[in-house]
Amino acid sequence: MNEITVLDREFSEYITEDEIQSRITAMAEKITEDLKDHDVLFFGILNGSFLFAADIFRQIKLNAQISFIKLASYEGTGSSGKIKELIGWNEDISGKTVVVLEDIVDTGSTLERIIGELTLRKASEVKICTLLFKPDAYTKDIPIDYIGFEIPNSFVVGYGLDYDGYGRNLKSIYKITK
Ligand code: 5GP
Repeated sequence: MNEITVLDREFSEYITEDEIQSRITAMAEKITEDLKDHDVLFFGILNGSFLFAADIFRQIKLNAQISFIKLASYEGTGSSGKIKELIGWNEDISGKTVVVLEDIVDTGSTLERIIGELTLRKASEVKICTLLFKPDAYTKDIPIDYIGFEIPNSFVVGYGLDYDGYGRNLKSIYKITK
């Protein structure tokens, strides 16, 4: 098994580059088939989804658009403490089919926040596509339309996912061992 260290933690290879890429090909084929004749705008959620979004978008055979949004945390002045703000909205999404591209869905809080915003902005239809999904951690009822891999509730890095900012450039996905 391929073992690596990122900062102070050890990880072992869990999903190989080939496995990721062939799953992405299958997901792209399904999305292309499902959404032909739709006016589709893909939204990659930064930072983690940048590689996944680039790889899947290149395999989508539709006349589609892509854009990116980011959830930024900052310290609020009120008693609620940390507030997450969505930044990067430039597009008019009204009447469009939006496909949200996520690297990983864990509890689903991020997803819920994004869906709320898309609904406010009157997208005609919203689909969720995530490379990784942790079913045991998920606490929401929002259906997820396209899932790359269901994984157990443990920490992973690589292929866009970081540990304290590092590990995003790993080609495979690695699972924490200690
Ligand atoms: P959620 O809002 O679904 O609980 O969490 C979503 C965010 O938590 C992801 O976009 C990601 O940034 C982070 N996250 C959740 N699980 C993992 C993981 O196993 N590894 C990494 N690197 N980030 C994770």
